[in-house]
Amino acid sequence: MFITTLLILVLAGVIGAVFGSFANVVAIRTHDSSSLWGRSECVHCKAKLHVRHLVPIISWLWQKGRCTDCGKKIHIQYPLVEVGGALLAVISMARHMPFDGQWPIILFEFFFGIALLIFLVMDARWFELPVEMMVGAGVIFSLWNMLLRVAAGESVSVIAWSHVIGFAVATSFFLLQWIVSGKRWVGSGDVWLAAVLGAVLGWPAVGFAVYFAYILGGTVAVWLLLSHKIKTGARVPFAPALTVGALAAMWWAPWIMAWLNYAFT
Ligand SMILES: [Zn+2]
Repeated sequence: MFITTLLILVLAGVIGAVFGSFANVVAIRTHDSSSLWGRSECVHCKAKLHVRHLVPIISWLWQKGRCTDCGKKIHIQYPLVEVGGALLAVISMARHMPFDGQWPIILFEFFFGIALLIFLVMDARWFELPVEMMVGAGVIFSLWNMLLRVAAGESVSVIAWSHVIGFAVATSFFLLQWIVSGKRWVGSGDVWLAAVLGAVLGWPAVGFAVYFAYILGGTVAVWLLLSHKIKTGARVPFAPALTVGALAAMWWAPWIMAWLNYAFT
């Protein structure tokens, strides 16, 4: 039993790393506005990458983080996002063990995680958020989550209100900050991302997501200031905190709700 579980998780990790590699390609080619198809190449010397250069994580370790043709450094984004994809797959799988056909929810958690990973990377590296892609993901994953909740036996009107309120609260909260701060605290991309998270997670889960995002974002910003890595008033991307907050809310919101219900009734 232990060996089977271990094998399933290792396999999940390998598949997750491959999707992490795909998330890198999507993020970079969306940033460059280049085609999703066609072989990848070294950004420095334009050498085409071979299959042996494309094994997630392993290739990077094997090449000691450098291009085999020109010897220049490969951006740390590649292995980090591949590890991120592997972790998302392992966590999505492990959360639903013993495995008994929970594919719809496992795949939802995994692919929503991969989408969030793409948004995180683009905002962290280039202060860019792909609005069309976020809206597309928002439509797909909110419908998917609503179907999961119907299948779990929740009433349709409760689910509908939850997602409408989640969308409305998250959007207006970020839109207000955007207006009040004259676009300084949050960018328009963050407003779009918050709207998508509200629609996908629903209320109250999106409330937890935003709460976690502020704790995480605030802690990291204070740490960056105190260690003089950034100056006061510097621009810090907020989508990384929001996406991590959304993951935490997706994983823990049901537990937190159960705990609150127990504590306050
Ligand atoms: Zn090169």
